[in-house]
Amino acid sequence: MSKNYVIGFPRIGEKRELKKVLEKYWAKQTDFNEVKYVAEQLKKRHWNYQKEAKIEFISSNDFSYYDNMLDTSILLGAIPKRFENLKDEELYFAMARGNETCVAMEMTKWFNTNYHYIVPEISKETSFKLNSKKVIEEYKEARELGIKTKINLIGAITYLGLSKSVDNSDIFLHINNIVEVYKNLLLEISELDDEVIVQFDEPLFVKDLDTKVLSLIKPVYDALTKVASNIKIAVTTYFEHSNEATRVLVNTPIWALGLDFIHGNKNLESLELIKNSNKVLIAGVIDGRNIWKSNFQDKVELLNKISKIINKENIIVATSCSLLHVPFTLKYEDNLDKEIKSWLSFANEKLQELSLVSKQFFDFKLNLDEIAVIRKNVEENNQRKISSKIHNIKIQDEIKNLKTFERADKFKDRIKVQREFFNYDFLTTTTIGSFPQTPEIRENRKNYKANLISKEVYEQEIKKYIDDCVAFQDEIGLDVLVHGEPERNDMVEYFGEMLDGFAFTQNAWVQSYGSRCVKPPVIYGDVNRENPMTVEWIKYAQSKTKKVMKGMLTGPVTILNWSFVRDDIPRSEVTRQIAFAICKEVNDLQNAGIKMIQVDEAAFKEGYPLRIENMKSYAQWAVDNFKLSVSSALIDTQIHTHMCYSEFNDIIKTIEAMDADVISIETARSGNRLLRIFKDVAYKQEIGPGIYDIHSPRVPSVEEMVLQIKSLLEVLPKEQLWINPDCGLKTRKWPEVKESLINMVKAVNIIKNEE
Ligand code: GLN
Ligand code: ZN
Repeated sequence: MSKNYVIGFPRIGEKRELKKVLEKYWAKQTDFNEVKYVAEQLKKRHWNYQKEAKIEFISSNDFSYYDNMLDTSILLGAIPKRFENLKDEELYFAMARGNETCVAMEMTKWFNTNYHYIVPEISKETSFKLNSKKVIEEYKEARELGIKTKINLIGAITYLGLSKSVDNSDIFLHINNIVEVYKNLLLEISELDDEVIVQFDEPLFVKDLDTKVLSLIKPVYDALTKVASNIKIAVTTYFEHSNEATRVLVNTPIWALGLDFIHGNKNLESLELIKNSNKVLIAGVIDGRNIWKSNFQDKVELLNKISKIINKENIIVATSCSLLHVPFTLKYEDNLDKEIKSWLSFANEKLQELSLVSKQFFDFKLNLDEIAVIRKNVEENNQRKISSKIHNIKIQDEIKNLKTFERADKFKDRIKVQREFFNYDFLTTTTIGSFPQTPEIRENRKNYKANLISKEVYEQEIKKYIDDCVAFQDEIGLDVLVHGEPERNDMVEYFGEMLDGFAFTQNAWVQSYGSRCVKPPVIYGDVNRENPMTVEWIKYAQSKTKKVMKGMLTGPVTILNWSFVRDDIPRSEVTRQIAFAICKEVNDLQNAGIKMIQVDEAAFKEGYPLRIENMKSYAQWAVDNFKLSVSSALIDTQIHTHMCYSEFNDIIKTIEAMDADVISIETARSGNRLLRIFKDVAYKQEIGPGIYDIHSPRVPSVEEMVLQIKSLLEVLPKEQLWINPDCGLKTRKWPEVKESLINMVKAVNIIKNEE
């Protein structure tokens, strides 16, 4: 077998089996045994895929019912007090999603991906103890199937570095306690087999670390390598280079270093050091973040470059990161354009690539089939470069000749006109856009796509939903209404489907959080908008109410960040093309009388480069393109934007520079902490801090929301604040949504009456 290594494999299932069974379980339609059963089947299937592809290093403990960071909190016994009385799966899912009495733990983005992890809550009092058998059991589970796995764990430093301190105590005070737990775990692991490989994921090391964190690396890995002589430790980083950490790690007794050479090209600078330390290099060369077919020639060339410095015997060929971030398989993509499909590669296909690339690199004998695949790979890559599908000269010219890049008026002038125009006072209530995606709505869409119903019937259904949705909002007294987004399967896919240059898969799901998956479109060519995309629906919704109807669009940066993006031109250029398309839509909306328009930039932050040195240029083109996308808005057209869970600290000035009239943000899980950041920089524009968490089915009480609003008012004046939920309501059920929004409006009225 040639030496190849998969950092981690996705777990939701190629038909989203895990999602489906979890949701069934949460809806109390089945018991936990069925969840367990499905999980076992999936693990088995995924291990076998890797085995069949002749992968030598396959992981265990890359499976999770919900999230690996959450698993790690359980493993280490870091369970916040409020969950104290719960155990097993009830505890686990309460931490993830909350229950009737406990608020869920915070969730945030995993580095610059669209995966979200559950943020560990640490305080001075947190105590750690080995608290789970999952790691050991999963190893045995694989072994019973005849597969000897490496064991994936989240490294101690990354775990703590991604935690939040609930009492402002220094989280790294706990490092030794965690190392102690890991030592105990390693002892148990050492008894599993003659030799076991443990992979500690330390993606934190790709960030700009302060010296304090850097100084932890040596003691931690010195300690962990001492536990048992039959354990080989690999430390893996991904998404960027980790040169600072590498300099330290080469001086510890670890066995191997896993580095990303796709998104961390600068790792090449560390090769000399690694060579001198005689460590094994797990060289991440198969992209775990994008879906383009690898160019085998390029890959082998890259590996050859590496092996000019590092001895081949010390190289293992790997994926750049876990394959969690790409879809499972192309095998169900029957509708995809054949040519485009020939350019793609998902997790299963990447296993093949990895296997073949490593075989080529190590000069293993190839059979005839393999030689044919390699030959075809060259052809397909060449053909993609010259394909007529990807170039649209007309749109390229229009963009070259653009003259207007931002709105004509300044915020302080705009807001005066707008306040008069819309006639609102303070604490204006609204929602973020989507309302529950009901089974009927999904059925309707499915039937239409399958040609089982006519366009008329399909649209009639959607109108019916809009009627009810608008009537409900009117009735409960919300100030600014939305149409509810029933025509949208997904906030990016919907737009992509109407734009040239996008391809859609049937089944290319990627886990976003818990059971939630997204199906990112593939941007393969120049983006162009021929016709309006949302105008008819919003106009219809507006015709049903006297109140203001807010138009709803997805912003260019979010469309980019939530798509798999072509790699033949810069991302900034792709974004510019999308921005230009949105700009035309904004103009058509305002011409149709829609004067309040939200341009969601839910994923603005997640596209940020991980290294400070690269941030400025991203921020610049991201802001420029957002501004371009709303540059057609007149003075009395109010532009809203919305951002999901983000740390705003470091980018608040950038957010301000986007110059949206109103921004709604997710804050409910973090009290008024986030808002203070806006205050600290004397943020000018208006803000709608989410006052309740929509990721949980729990209905917040009026009293609770009154308190939340009051805590917001401690930070910012009422005139600057809007009141809304944290995010869209599409994942919730109508009864919860109704009750929650009724309570929200009541809460605002209570506050207003106290004035
Ligand atoms: N308008 C979108 C919705 O309400 C925004 C979703 C999001 O921010 N993720 O669903
Ligand atoms: Zn959101």
